[in-house]
Amino acid sequence: MLLPLEPDDVVVLVNEWGTAPRVEAGEAAQAYPPVSLVVPPDTVRFDDAALTGIADLLHPVFAAPSSAERVRLMDDLLARAGTTVRLALADDQVTAEWRPADRSDSLLVAALRTLHDMLVERGLDAIGTCDADACVDVWIDRPRGRPRRYCSDTCSGRARVTAFRRRRREERP
Ligand SMILES: [Zn+2]
Repeated sequence: MLLPLEPDDVVVLVNEWGTAPRVEAGEAAQAYPPVSLVVPPDTVRFDDAALTGIADLLHPVFAAPSSAERVRLMDDLLARAGTTVRLALADDQVTAEWRPADRSDSLLVAALRTLHDMLVERGLDAIGTCDADACVDVWIDRPRGRPRRYCSDTCSGRARVTAFRRRRREERP
């Protein structure tokens, strides 16, 4: 079974392997980072095509236009993976393990669990996609931050410059 994925790993998975983020950024032809960046070495072998497949299932969850749609998409993916929850006792602590019907879905289910935990902990708006032009990269909000709109400081800076230029153009007679 896969260890839980860190939120940053899910973001890297979707942004680096997802079709939409790569195409929108003009990076479709670029090489992928090493798979070991997001997949622990002791688990099922995932190649670039498998990671792209998972990333393309997860991107719509981030891009969902409403909370209801976001929850429906996640629930649908869990159902399609035949996910079951099993409990175990370790060191006097109960742990819940989410298991897909097939091991090839283990990374997808691990990512969905990470997203589920984020949404329960921080609310349904804790994940999203970048508002900047030519970027649909996904983000997960940091705790106690201002409401987030951009994937990175680069995109938020770029959007500020664009808005400034637009205002200046409009102010000219
Ligand atoms: Zn961005």
